[in-house]
Amino acid sequence: FDMFVLAFIERFFRPIYKKDDVVLGKKLGEGSFGSVYRVSLARKPSSKPADLVLKKATEYGAVEIWMNERVRRACANSCADFLYGFRETSSKKGAEYWLLWRFEGEATLADLMQSREFPYNVESLILREVQDLPKGLDRENRIILTIMRQLLFALDGLHSTGIVHRDIKPQNIIFSEGSRAFKIIDLGAAADLRVGINYIPKEFLLDPRYAAPEQYIMSTQTPSAPSAPVATALSPVLWQLNLPDRFDIYSVGLIFLQMAFPGLRSDNSLIQFNRQLKRCDYDLVSWRQSVEPRAGPELRKGFELLDLDGGIGWELLTSMVRFKARQRISAKTALAHPYFDREGLLALSFIQ
Ligand code: ADP
Ligand code: MG
Repeated sequence: FDMFVLAFIERFFRPIYKKDDVVLGKKLGEGSFGSVYRVSLARKPSSKPADLVLKKATEYGAVEIWMNERVRRACANSCADFLYGFRETSSKKGAEYWLLWRFEGEATLADLMQSREFPYNVESLILREVQDLPKGLDRENRIILTIMRQLLFALDGLHSTGIVHRDIKPQNIIFSEGSRAFKIIDLGAAADLRVGINYIPKEFLLDPRYAAPEQYIMSTQTPSAPSAPVATALSPVLWQLNLPDRFDIYSVGLIFLQMAFPGLRSDNSLIQFNRQLKRCDYDLVSWRQSVEPRAGPELRKGFELLDLDGGIGWELLTSMVRFKARQRISAKTALAHPYFDREGLLALSFIQ
């Protein structure tokens, strides 16, 4: 059955919102491509107003609506709940795109990581039983592991759908209070490779703090934006050849690094880390050799955490943050990495 027929039928039965239904609340974000507000929306005066998020976007809004519609059908749990997007023409600035999502929660991973309490401030949000373990590396590692598993799960959903996000960073990961899980937001820079939407990467959209070293997600040898039917036939092959999903894996690897190393959580220290890593030809092992001998307590703590259980965390990290995209692990393979078996091991060690 044709996807577009399905989409049409769904559109027909889904509620349609318009500008006048929306009551603007607090501004949540302001980027060069649009502004984001918390809004409430009442369709009937009697009903409880819905708690939503509105993005008023510029020209990239059209792509973002496309991506969110795809995600809604193919991997809804990976991203914030998308309700509806439309073109708004009555603004003085010309056409805008308006996008509406459910308000998932107050905090992004960036907000949570900024707290001195991290990762303990996340523990009761995502783990059912709070632990008897004393505060320490084991307990922190278990929380970080759970966050990583949720991020990779969401990312695997996107990648299996054929979408590369290209702007994975803590600011674009929202904690969903309803799902008690982290979800991905901000598909404004995403590429849908199965149909060639936004196929040519716009480098200027990429955040240099979290971007992988490759400038182009698809090699420059590949033909430029093919038309939809050709792209659908070709792209699985192109995907295999170029592994564009590994761009996101590098970014999520940097998030893993920041969670493990408190000293690398600020913007400035991440920028400094990126410089150091570049000097080491993007080889984490030589970076470690260069910094470990004169490491302060915050760096040492990160290495200790990753070295638990024979260094299984360090092994996972180094398989994500690599110069060559094809040497990076995929989200799906990473989910099967022994690092994530730790919980089972821990449970066993309690029984013994
Ligand atoms: P921008 O293009 O400005 O980066 P984002 O889509 O990342 O736009 O949204 C900006 C901010 O708005 C996010 O960092 C987050 O704090 C908040 N936000 C976005 N979507 C949601 C949502 N569904 N629920 C709660 N907060 C959200
Ligand atoms: Mg954002």
